[in-house]
Amino acid sequence: MAVSYHSTRASGEAAGVDFETALMRGLAPDGGLYLPRPVLPLPAGWQASRSLPDLATLVLPPYLGVEREALEPLLQAALDFPLPLVPLARDRHVLELFHGPTMAFKDVGARTMARLTAAAAAHRGRSVTVLVATSGDTGSAVADAFKGLARVRVALLYPEDMVSEMQERQLVAARPGVQAFRVRGTFDDCQRLVKGAFSDPALAQLGLSSANSINIGRLLPQALYYLWGVARLGRSTGAPAPVVTVPSGNLGNLTGGVLAEKMGMPVGRFVAAHNVNDFFPEFLEGRAEAYAFRPTRATLSNAMDVGAPSNFERLLALLGDALPERVWGVSVDDDATLGRMRTSARDDGYLPCPHTAVALEGLERYRAVSGDTRPAIVLATAHPAKFPDAVRRATGEPAPRSPQLEGLVDRQRNVLPLDAEPAALRAALLDFTAAAS
Ligand SMILES: *Cc1c(COP(=O)(O)O)cnc(C)c1O
Repeated sequence: MAVSYHSTRASGEAAGVDFETALMRGLAPDGGLYLPRPVLPLPAGWQASRSLPDLATLVLPPYLGVEREALEPLLQAALDFPLPLVPLARDRHVLELFHGPTMAFKDVGARTMARLTAAAAAHRGRSVTVLVATSGDTGSAVADAFKGLARVRVALLYPEDMVSEMQERQLVAARPGVQAFRVRGTFDDCQRLVKGAFSDPALAQLGLSSANSINIGRLLPQALYYLWGVARLGRSTGAPAPVVTVPSGNLGNLTGGVLAEKMGMPVGRFVAAHNVNDFFPEFLEGRAEAYAFRPTRATLSNAMDVGAPSNFERLLALLGDALPERVWGVSVDDDATLGRMRTSARDDGYLPCPHTAVALEGLERYRAVSGDTRPAIVLATAHPAKFPDAVRRATGEPAPRSPQLEGLVDRQRNVLPLDAEPAALRAALLDFTAAAS
């Protein structure tokens, strides 16, 4: 059965588009976000896949409208790093998603999407300018994933003073076909600029495409590691339906998990663990109206500093009134984040990054409130070496070394300042694409 893509804002009968169109557009013309329809049941034998690329090759072809044979090498190249499931005490299992080139889970979606985008650009015989707003890890994952691909340029926008020094170093490293912009504003300003650029007629000829977590090309691959983790846990313990805890900001990661559950993956419950940017947990508890978003607050888990999570719209479309039943929400402040980093290192011998610490803390609170003792998977979204200041504050020790990150110190930089104004972005993009073509 062919899968098509429908806007969250379209009426039920409106015609969908194919994957390539949804990938290149990013946002639907009505301002909504694309979701696949139908969500197909998982193919037989999915639990037995021996690697993430094998699992991806089994599950994705009908969603992408591409033959398995054509897809396999692309997925093997994109998903070429391990995703270990590390057991902790009390039936907790940490699924480490940060062993890709930029040491954050966004490598999974970005590397898959980059190759799909290059394939689509070649297929259409035109070039593409990928425009991305980042709260920290997206930009470097996207820049690394798309660098040097034929017919593809990347412009990335990040908020000044809201990314760690290490993250900034990763963002501004010079890469072929990539330009970084340091925006005088917040992450929400960056997202607003990106949304505005897509509807700016003066930029229509650039073939703008998004690589934020709003893009379906990043979202679909993010269903895969849930399947991988749940299958591995099921094989090793026979546990059928774990609680899955997700450190959340823009809710793209969680949406991948909800898609996997729609495909038929067994999940006890999702825990959405947020920092003090707490719109979603408040919504789940009935204390915030849908879309009553809040200004962004800066925290230690800065890749989750999102006041207005874009993928909320998708979660509502997928689960509707069942959202609070399937997802439990929790908000963890910086003190509790540091406390959890410390106790996890001390008691479990496991040092998490601040984002992963929010999830570990969220799981403890969920278990305390619910009494649910089912096995749990906690997604670990970044390597602790990316957050040396937080590690030092939490443990009094320096962060573990990472040759991957230390290599960036001497890399040549390429970054331009940008005012948070649509006209400034328009001029900058026209300059960049003129210079690059
Ligand atoms: C982006 C990011 C998150 C949040 O993921 P969303 O999809 O935005 O909810 C969590 N942790 C890290 C390290 C990230 O980079």
